[in-house]
Amino acid sequence: MSELRKEPVLQRWVVVMKDHQPRPLERCPFCPGSESETPPEVFAIRPDSTRRDTPGWTVRVVPNKYPFLRIEEEPAKRAYGLYDRMNGVGAHEIVIETPEHVQHFATMEISQLAGVLNAYRARMLDLRRDTRFKHIVIVKNHGPNVTALPHPHSHIVALPIVPRRIDEELKGTFNYSQFHDRCIYCDIIGQESSRKERMIAETDLFASFVPFASRYPYETWILPKKHSCDFGQISDAEIADLAKVMRQVFSCIRVALNDPHYSLALHSSPLQEQYRPQYHWHFEVRPRVEVVHGFEWATGLFIHSIPPEEAAAQLKAACEKVGD
Ligand SMILES: [Zn+2]
Ligand SMILES: [Zn+2]
Ligand SMILES: [Zn+2]
Repeated sequence: MSELRKEPVLQRWVVVMKDHQPRPLERCPFCPGSESETPPEVFAIRPDSTRRDTPGWTVRVVPNKYPFLRIEEEPAKRAYGLYDRMNGVGAHEIVIETPEHVQHFATMEISQLAGVLNAYRARMLDLRRDTRFKHIVIVKNHGPNVTALPHPHSHIVALPIVPRRIDEELKGTFNYSQFHDRCIYCDIIGQESSRKERMIAETDLFASFVPFASRYPYETWILPKKHSCDFGQISDAEIADLAKVMRQVFSCIRVALNDPHYSLALHSSPLQEQYRPQYHWHFEVRPRVEVVHGFEWATGLFIHSIPPEEAAAQLKAACEKVGD
């Protein structure tokens, strides 16, 4: 059981888990041969000759055994004095990105990485058929400090609400388009692409750069050059190209920063009545190299000592060292 609670001043939802007690694991539940350790798969890339929930897959998606939101619940919002609370309705799935227990986006075959992106798209398109879900987010954590399970995997979480972070980006996008009749992200890509000082990787279809006012050192964004609010609409050709760009970006980060812990997030438009064509989907990557200070927590003002241009130069130099 979990519950969503709304903080009444900032109107920010939080998830409160009430029965979170993951048990210690004896063997990796994501390795081939352990398929019975996970709930039955909801998607897999596997040869036709293999059966569901048996080895032979290259990418496998399963519901999380310990979800922080559950599909069975009804989202019914209810008041509790002046507070709002809601049942933890949602879906929480795990994308097992490869059968290999030790692997990295920086070293994965490009076709394997494309398979992972395919799984993201397939699950996003399927989950949105449940109209209780207003937003789907994809998150990946890499490194011993940010994930309990080392086997490469990402989380797909479908939510009954639009999280505050996305809401803020939507508002910014909307305000800019009201004023300029254009997409702010398209304009940013245009400027970064012509100046190049923060660009790390670029193809005809995608651009990856350190944002001008990054919140975290070495923070990196990856965006499609063609305007689209919805990752679910990505084409096969775009997936193939994105896989190449992602491998390059993660190689840069891995070499330049000595395989840091990192988090990756996919930001795409909310769903149903909150679908917003003005939005522009993107990935954000946050290498976790900074020392955390209280100031950011106290003020919401981010401070770091690596200028984005220098971060981009370091990442790019590392990429050139690895080659393609
Ligand atoms: Zn494993
Ligand atoms: Zn755009
Ligand atoms: Zn974003």
